[in-house]
Amino acid sequence: MEIKQEGKFKTLFKRYGILCIACVFALVVALGVALGVQGARQVSVTPADFGLPMQNATVVKDYADDRLQLNESLNRWEIHLAVDMTSDDNAVFSVLDGVVDSVESNSLDGCVVTITHGDGFTSIYSSLGEDVLVKAGDRVTKGQQIGTASADATNESVDGAHLHFVLMQNGVEVDPNIYLDLQNK
Ligand SMILES: [Zn+2]
Repeated sequence: MEIKQEGKFKTLFKRYGILCIACVFALVVALGVALGVQGARQVSVTPADFGLPMQNATVVKDYADDRLQLNESLNRWEIHLAVDMTSDDNAVFSVLDGVVDSVESNSLDGCVVTITHGDGFTSIYSSLGEDVLVKAGDRVTKGQQIGTASADATNESVDGAHLHFVLMQNGVEVDPNIYLDLQNK
């Protein structure tokens, strides 16, 4: 009886064993590919890849998505999904290689340069003076000067000449401090 059962198991294994091993192998490969793709996406742009939008900058108003900050120019409390900074020469640089998406100007934001980078990143430089050094369609490199910070943006004019820097990933504002070493300058 035992021998017969053992024989039956052997037959079953012969019939389905290879199939089971193939299934497990396919699962492991699929999981590996999925994790690999995710890993590649996460590490393709790292903090080390970013340059600074200003040299020796002082942060005057930080990014905060969880608390209101007083906008003295407009006299209202609002969330500030950007980092405001100033420096001695107020020169503003692209934080990564990219392509200038647009150069626009309005009284609220001053001159605004938007640059598209790889991996879904977009950087936006507001409160620039009219002396912008790039135009839409230009290719820029990390560290290339694109303009000069000014006090032209009336929505933050009380803050004086400064850069209002926004970093977006896949269309959503992210905290620039995650990628850029802006503090303790
Ligand atoms: Zn700001």
